[in-house]
Amino acid sequence: MQSIAIDMDETIADTLAKFISWYRRDFGVDFDHDALRGKEISSLVPPERRGIFLKYLDTPGFCRDIPVIPDAPEVLEKLNSRYEIYICSSAMEFPNSLKDKLDWTLEYFPFLTWRQVCLCGNKHLIQTDIMIDDRSRNFQYFKGRKILFTQNHNFSETGFERANSWKEVEKMLL
Ligand SMILES: [Mg+2]
Repeated sequence: MQSIAIDMDETIADTLAKFISWYRRDFGVDFDHDALRGKEISSLVPPERRGIFLKYLDTPGFCRDIPVIPDAPEVLEKLNSRYEIYICSSAMEFPNSLKDKLDWTLEYFPFLTWRQVCLCGNKHLIQTDIMIDDRSRNFQYFKGRKILFTQNHNFSETGFERANSWKEVEKMLL
């Protein structure tokens, strides 16, 4: 059975949507979807507020109810019967997120067990056959098949096999 490492933030969890909703709550400002194309959300806010998103990530509760990326539960459930799958998140920078991330995964992906959740400091140790991630920097030391999950911030990156949605992952791997 082949193995897959699946990223959490912005791959199965719509962390950007949660950033936008908390930023709206705190500053009364919304983001134009088109303005986010090819950009990091932190680059679109005043310099003194750039650190707010890292603070959000380490706020207890922030990671507990992030919306799920469409179709991820259905497709992961199918993948789970054909592959050894692991949810991998380099989350140690945000210690308050750790329990939330575990609880979130087991609630929205109830067919997974805690043995399939890997919260780590970086992803260089991952040696699965396939990795699905929205951050190409996580592919740097990875030797298997790399699938870049399309998100606004990586929109203009080239040179990677891409999945634009979980429906596309389903077609690629099932
Ligand atoms: Mg990510």
